Amino acid sequence: MNNQKIYTGVNWRGCEFGHMTIIPHGKRCYCGRYGCLDAYCSSNILSDFTGGDLKKFFTELELEHNRGLMNVFDDYMDHLAIAVNSLRMCYDCNVVLGGHVGAYMSDYINIFRKKAISLNPFEQDGSFIRVCHYRTEASAVGAAIYYINEFLQAF
Ligand SMILES: [Zn+2]
Repeated sequence: MNNQKIYTGVNWRGCEFGHMTIIPHGKRCYCGRYGCLDAYCSSNILSDFTGGDLKKFFTELELEHNRGLMNVFDDYMDHLAIAVNSLRMCYDCNVVLGGHVGAYMSDYINIFRKKAISLNPFEQDGSFIRVCHYRTEASAVGAAIYYINEFLQAF
C-alpha cells in the first residue's frame, strides 16, 4: 500500500519481494530462477525439518537442544536480513515481519535486528523492524479491509 492505494507496478508485479535475487546463482526457486528470496525464506525452508509442521519447528527450537535446527534458523535469519536491509534501503520505512514465520519471530527479534542492522550502512538501531501483531491470515484480512472500506464509503 502506498498513499492508501495498492501499489501494483506497471505489470501488476509490484513488490514481488519473494523473487528478489538475494544470492546470485543460488538455490533454485519454484519460479525457475536461482537465488530468489523465496528459495531461502519460505516457511517451508524451516518446516521441512519438522515434517511440514512450522509450530513444531519453533517448539523444538525453543528447547535449544537441537543444534541442527538452530543452525537452520540462523541461516534463515541471515537470508531474511539481506531482504529486510534491501527493503529498508529501497523504501526507508518500517519493515514488519509477517507471514507464517513472522508469527514466531517475537522471541528472536533482537537477534534478527542485529543481523539486519549489521548490513545497514546508515543506522545502528534496528527498531524499524517489527513483528506482526496479526499473526494469522493477515494478508487476507488486509485485502478484505480495502474492500470493506470501499463498501462503507458507498453509503
Ligand atoms: Zn523465484
